[in-house]
Amino acid sequence: MSINQLICVCIILVAGCGSSDVASVSKPQVQVAFDLKSRSAFTIPASINLPSENPQNPGSNLQLAMYCPECDRWYPAPPLEQIHRTPGVGECRKHGTPLSFEGPLPEQSIPFLDENTAGTPEQEEKE
Ligand SMILES: [Zn+2]
Repeated sequence: MSINQLICVCIILVAGCGSSDVASVSKPQVQVAFDLKSRSAFTIPASINLPSENPQNPGSNLQLAMYCPECDRWYPAPPLEQIHRTPGVGECRKHGTPLSFEGPLPEQSIPFLDENTAGTPEQEEKE
C-alpha cells in the first residue's frame, strides 16, 4: 500500500467518525414535558407522544412544555391549534413574551421504558 492510499483511508475513517459524532451530539433525542400534578418540568425521550401518563407518578399527566425566558421556567403548553388561532395563548401570562419550545433543559428527567418492554417487566427476568 502506498503512502497516498494510506492517507486516503485515514481521511475516510476520520471523516466518517466525525460526522456521526456531530449528528448524535448536536441533536439530543429529548423533549421537555410538564407534569401537571407536581407542577414541574422534566426531560423525557423525544420518542414519547404527549400528553402521556407519568410512569413515575401514577395518575398524573405529562404534557408538552413551553419556556418563558423572562420567568426562566417552563409552563404547560396550550393545545397547538390554540397557539396558532387564539392571540395571547402562546404567551407568558406575566410578561406577554412569546413562549418557546426551546430553553435550558430541566435537570430532572423521567426514564421511560422502551415501548416494546413497557408493561411487561417480567421479560427482564426470563432465562
Ligand atoms: Zn414570563
